[in-house]
Amino acid sequence: MDAMKYVVCVPDGCSDEPVDELGGRTPLEAADLPVLRSLAARGTVGRAATIPAGMPPGSDVGNMAIFGYDPARYHTGRAPIEAAAMRLDLTGRVAYRCNLVTVGPDGTMVDFAGGHPDSDAAAEVIRALDAELGGDVSFHPGVKYRHIMLAPPDWTDADCVPPHDLTGKPSVLPTGAAAPHLVELMERSRAVLGRFGLDANQIWLWGQGPGPAMPALADRFGLRGGLVTEVDLVRGLGVLAGLDVVEVPGANAWFDTNYEGMRDAAIAGLRDGADLWIVHIEASDEAGHAGDVAEKVRALENWDARVLADLIPALDDMGDWRLLLLPDHATPLRLRTHTPDPVPYLLVDSRVDGPGGTYSEAGVAGLEPVAAHDLMAVLLER
Ligand SMILES: [Zn+2]
Repeated sequence: MDAMKYVVCVPDGCSDEPVDELGGRTPLEAADLPVLRSLAARGTVGRAATIPAGMPPGSDVGNMAIFGYDPARYHTGRAPIEAAAMRLDLTGRVAYRCNLVTVGPDGTMVDFAGGHPDSDAAAEVIRALDAELGGDVSFHPGVKYRHIMLAPPDWTDADCVPPHDLTGKPSVLPTGAAAPHLVELMERSRAVLGRFGLDANQIWLWGQGPGPAMPALADRFGLRGGLVTEVDLVRGLGVLAGLDVVEVPGANAWFDTNYEGMRDAAIAGLRDGADLWIVHIEASDEAGHAGDVAEKVRALENWDARVLADLIPALDDMGDWRLLLLPDHATPLRLRTHTPDPVPYLLVDSRVDGPGGTYSEAGVAGLEPVAAHDLMAVLLER
């Protein structure tokens, strides 16, 4: 018999609340999900806490837990995860997110995304910043308005407000021991940005942290793993966890993403010898943020028809398998943002019939939540 295969499926933010337009059902209850329902009928359903108490319900935190790392222990900030996605060496450095932003003459945060510059124009700005302000720090181009600054390790201590929390409000500058360095760089950046004719007129530094000391999944569990995702943050977690991160053309983190391409990348990776593959798809979360009921239902139906329907027979062809499915957090349509509430999970083993259940929010209501970061070891039977 071939070696056991393990799959983790993450429909980002799919968990929700009852919705009037769906007759009081949640998207998971209303969607047509024949494959998922049959998997749940032969598996085990439960409730998982993906967001540790007191932590923000971000995709970085929730996915870190799903990848098997306790965020309360390993999460050091958002910027170092994004820096890892860019394959930057974080040894002895602290990573800051460096947004290109537009601040009005009166100090109001006009646009945390700096008018959405294209990535090539933004990269020129970042290179100029590195040439003129670099030294203690270095600037690294990312995508559009989202970039990274690496700084000395003693620049960690600062309270920085995320620029998207300041939209239309007075800019609140960093405070704390490292703040004078940060404020000076943000002020000096205005002269550099001023030469480029973009809407963005300065940088905004936030989200800092040192590189998280995450032991590779291969070292912890003695396996080879891979990941397909459309999201930089999740890609960074994959790099930090030592996973083989595969890019899929047309995987665009939107409603019309390349579901089949991501499914086939997972199947190909497993056939090529990976023991574990994580498939993370963003559309359900984007639908939640947009408050778009129909797209949220459709995103789930796409998971069922365009991922699971062909993934399961492919796994059967490879031998025995175990599958874990859960979102990283809820993104309720009513709230249009993430919540830290526990989410339903599903665990299926091809060799055994589990107790069976209903994969929905109500289907697991009242169950005591397990810590999501423990589920990886449960999946792998370690
Ligand atoms: Zn998420």
